[in-house]
Amino acid sequence: MVVLESYSMSSIRHSGKRAGLLRELDRLGRRILFGTVSETYRTCGQPACACHHGGPKHGPHLLVSYRGERGKTTGYHVPQTLADTVRDGVAAWQRFQQVARTLADLNREHAWRRSTTRRAR
Ligand SMILES: [Zn+2]
Repeated sequence: MVVLESYSMSSIRHSGKRAGLLRELDRLGRRILFGTVSETYRTCGQPACACHHGGPKHGPHLLVSYRGERGKTTGYHVPQTLADTVRDGVAAWQRFQQVARTLADLNREHAWRRSTTRRAR
């Protein structure tokens, strides 16, 4: 009896933790962006601008790069107005993966625990 009680207690804590992680995945999932952020400096479209004559180039501009289909590296430039959104999205992707990994561990424990409980009955 004691063993069964401790199973159900830990299973309650367990499902509470899982529910929390699922909520976090849901929140993060709305923000995630895939890729690696880097900064680039570019010349502009005006030939008379200092950037074409040894002056400082324009930037930093954010560049997001990632492995596309068939393993080829691809990416996109980020408009200044979206820089914070993109940085946040890329950070959210890192966190998303951590949470998904924790959830996967809990799912495994859950499956094993259920199987043990069934056998015990
Ligand atoms: Zn320029």
